[in-house]
Amino acid sequence: MSQASALVVATFSRRMRLRQADGIEVDARIKGKLLRPVCGDKVIAEPIPGESDWLITDICTRHNVLDRPNLRGKTEILAANVELLVVVAAASPRPDWFIVDRYLSAAAGMQVPAAVVFNKTDLEKQDASTDTELQDYSRIGYPTLRCSALSGAGIDALQEILAGRIAIFVGQSGVGKSSIINRLIGGEQQRTATISNKTGEGRHTTVNSMMLTLPCGGEVIDSPGVRDYAPAFESASEVMRGFREIEQASQNCRFANCRHLREPGCAAKDAVNHDAISPRRFESYRRLLALTEKLDKRT
Ligand code: GDP
Ligand code: ZN
Repeated sequence: MSQASALVVATFSRRMRLRQADGIEVDARIKGKLLRPVCGDKVIAEPIPGESDWLITDICTRHNVLDRPNLRGKTEILAANVELLVVVAAASPRPDWFIVDRYLSAAAGMQVPAAVVFNKTDLEKQDASTDTELQDYSRIGYPTLRCSALSGAGIDALQEILAGRIAIFVGQSGVGKSSIINRLIGGEQQRTATISNKTGEGRHTTVNSMMLTLPCGGEVIDSPGVRDYAPAFESASEVMRGFREIEQASQNCRFANCRHLREPGCAAKDAVNHDAISPRRFESYRRLLALTEKLDKRT
């Protein structure tokens, strides 16, 4: 029996589509009940004699996961092996930069590079505050760009950022994530892809998560769960990791465990006072820390 590693490119419940090393795609089911592969997973699979289905026998070590607690309090994994997290904000609904910061923190927690995309520039009135925010993100190392899924402006620049990587799009509902993805793939066709329901029955179901190949060579993992993803934070150290400029400044704080609140000799606060750190980002940090600590006390 020939085992091979393959990439999960679409899922519908426990039905999977795999892309093999040679690019050929096959449908697959999963051995046993314990394995739960998701889009982006690299898996070990083998052909099933006499069937067109393959059988997934193992999941290779994941580099990272996008996960969230589900209603039963268990952790649900939405995607794996993500290489870029694109945080989308827009001219409308009114941008909430605190939410953008939360997504960027989640990316840091996943150890995934992130970019900030500001969509619906066609609706934008000259707004200096958006410039300032985008510059602040760019200053701390996040690629940023403006685009319009409607007019196509800025989409080329976005393609360049996405080229050769497996990305996901996150952000508030209504900012245009689906529209941007449609624009990138040149229509909706690919997104209504189906997966055979059961061998031989010829029935097909619409997938609930899939990897879309972009003309630029990049890939986007798309699903309602990924698009609706909202990060949850569990610890103060997790929050701190998400604010790289604060973390960097903190090397000069008097106390090694400084949380940059009321401690004396706080280099992060100094940096804010000298405009080396954005006061708005610092406020986000404090807000997120306070939220996390409230959680800490409750549990
Ligand atoms: P999602 O919830 O983030 O996936 O957002 P959608 O892609 O569903 O878009 C929400 C709404 O914004 C829809 O009515 C889109 O037509 C609209 N929209 C998306 N991108 C743009 C854009 O660049 N400009 C304008 N004017 N509207 C947009
Ligand atoms: Zn400090």
